[in-house]
Amino acid sequence: MIRLDGKEVSKALRKTLAQSVEKTKRPPGLGVILVGEDPASQVYVRNKMKACSEVGMESVEIQLPSSASEDELITAIAAMNENPGVDAYLIQLPLPKKFNEQEMIGRIDPKKDADGLTVENLGLLMAGRPRSVPCTPNGVMQILKFYDIDVVGKNVVVIGRSQIVGKPMAQLLLAANATVTVCHSKTENLFEHTQRAEIVVVAAGQPKFLKKEAFKKGAVVIDVGMHRLPSGKLCGDVDPEGLENWVSALTPVPGGVGPMTITMLLQNTLSLYQASESAT
Ligand code: NAP
Repeated sequence: MIRLDGKEVSKALRKTLAQSVEKTKRPPGLGVILVGEDPASQVYVRNKMKACSEVGMESVEIQLPSSASEDELITAIAAMNENPGVDAYLIQLPLPKKFNEQEMIGRIDPKKDADGLTVENLGLLMAGRPRSVPCTPNGVMQILKFYDIDVVGKNVVVIGRSQIVGKPMAQLLLAANATVTVCHSKTENLFEHTQRAEIVVVAAGQPKFLKKEAFKKGAVVIDVGMHRLPSGKLCGDVDPEGLENWVSALTPVPGGVGPMTITMLLQNTLSLYQASESAT
């Protein structure tokens, strides 16, 4: 079994990114709006800022307390939209429950949408003219590419249909000429689908819920899931027990899809910077 090492892929892509950034007229800038004091979100934001400086990009952060009002968040979004040093930005999700996430995402200038989650950018992806692509599914595509895993004509099953992972994942695979089946919590006889698939992308948000018997021998398994167990250890949606001599390739958790997400964020920042430069 090949271990699909997202850290390795990320390292290679970030090296290329840093070389491209060196040639830009000014450092591209990534902004992050963080609302609240959630420790996991704070770590994610810190990692994003660190990754920016490692490839020579600037970062701009706006922090609001969880007591912030909707008007304060709208003002922060407007400030990012208007800041000429910010080429791309995101609102760190999840937002505290009192906010309407979709409405807030809808206020992001689509030309600065670092996560590719605005309706305009999701629509462009659907139309086959991607501008800013959701980072996690894009990271999965880069892993497949790096390891020369051909998806053309293959039966690929995506488990999960969220706006952030499952749906754009299916769209990217379809654009790459895979034969895609999307499964979700209402899918009957899930294993009938997964056992036929040459590639399975699992993004169900259920710790270790797919075991060896779910996959056909030799399948490629991409585990997008990320969960912290009570022991503090991380695990994915797939139970790796017994997979070593069964599947042909697997993304480990941690160290598989996870490291790719921030790299794709940097990639989107660079492409949005380049698009705005060429428009001026
Ligand atoms: P989500 O919004 O909770 O969506 C989960 C999807 O899985 C839903 O479409 C749901 O179906 C489906 N599902 C749930 N239980 C299922 C079951 N038993 N059988 C088949 N389908 C099932 O989660 P998400 O945001 O897409 O994230 C998915 C996972 O990826 C999570 O573990 C998350 O932590 C992880 N993640 C990792 C990264 C990373 O950087 N590595 C980034 C984003 C997310 P319904 O639509 O019918 O409810």
